[in-house]
Amino acid sequence: MGKKTLYKGFTLIDGNGGAPQENSYFVVEDKRITKVGKVEDLQATGNMEVVDLTRKYVMPGLINAHVHITLEPVGDPFGLINRESTAKTAVRGVVNLKKHLQAGTTFFRDLGAPAGIDFALRDAVNEGLIEGPQFLAAGKCISMTGGHGWSIGREADGVDEVRKAAREQLKAGADLLKIMATGGVTTPGVEPGSPQLTLEEMKAAVEEAHKAGKKTASHAQGTQGIKNAILAGIDSIEHGIFLDDETIELMLEHDVYLVPTLVAPYFIVEYGIEAGIPQYAVDKAKAVMDAHAESFTKAYKAGVKIAMGTDAGTPFNFHDGAPHELKLMVQAGMSPMDALVSSTKAGADLLGILDDYGTLEEGKFADFLVLNENPLDNLDTLLNLHSVYKLGKKVK
Ligand SMILES: [Zn+2]
Repeated sequence: MGKKTLYKGFTLIDGNGGAPQENSYFVVEDKRITKVGKVEDLQATGNMEVVDLTRKYVMPGLINAHVHITLEPVGDPFGLINRESTAKTAVRGVVNLKKHLQAGTTFFRDLGAPAGIDFALRDAVNEGLIEGPQFLAAGKCISMTGGHGWSIGREADGVDEVRKAAREQLKAGADLLKIMATGGVTTPGVEPGSPQLTLEEMKAAVEEAHKAGKKTASHAQGTQGIKNAILAGIDSIEHGIFLDDETIELMLEHDVYLVPTLVAPYFIVEYGIEAGIPQYAVDKAKAVMDAHAESFTKAYKAGVKIAMGTDAGTPFNFHDGAPHELKLMVQAGMSPMDALVSSTKAGADLLGILDDYGTLEEGKFADFLVLNENPLDNLDTLLNLHSVYKLGKKVK
């Protein structure tokens, strides 16, 4: 029998989207929640340690579905990572992990890192060598030659080579595959709207991932590329900047998640070339920002499944900034409760970890945030956390 801790008196937002429950409690034992209820129904508490959280709000830890833990959010992150040694980049990853955890992200998905650094970091966290959120790692993103993200990715052309690239990542330890369906904002000379890997190429990668029981995510900004990715069998569309009605219909039909990452172009435009962001990135971000928000709003209204992701590591998209994405989603028409669910339960569903994470229920891991205010009234309270618990241990 492990040590039991009773947390009590708080308003519980459990991640399922239902009404917050005042005066709640839960018991944590051996990293997991073993009992949840109302304080008035609380039986004998025996030899439990008691943590009184009266007047606080408790919700699941944030799950960020799109992070680049090895990227430093400077003006030109790709320039930096390609100049620096692999060892230095790995050190940055260690530091960035801590930032996510301290800011309330207790689980995330890394969507593209060079040299297997993400795998090493993931394993180091799981072994307890370093402190950070647990995460799923995609390894190198698979892009066409010269395509978006090529400088930290695995360039591959043609069905057979893409299949090989997919198998390489799986062999190296990838938890999922990241596939580039279109151009993007932060790579010079490629257009966000233009398709890149073909439908047939992506099909080969998706097939390899699914055979290995792994999921796939696609960087997909332009309409045709998004369609290609969906028809190839992708599990999530990342960014989804140019969604038309047909694409949204396809997403619903194929049960595909959207991970909008609204903050990515937002901060590029906010900071601009004065902050050292390359002109091409600022121009492209400006050109897509409105369409991005409109696409998000349309997809949300149509009932497309949405998981929160920030693309942290892109210019001035900081590793402790996930709450900004929630705020932008709400600004674009999402209800605050849906923004919380997209950042907890929906993220866990997309990542395939819902059995253990994403909601605060009996049997789940005790990854949770203690907040000073009701986040449904004020999302800014997520930027000023009272405390953070990871696997039942207070980490902030
Ligand atoms: Zn990304």
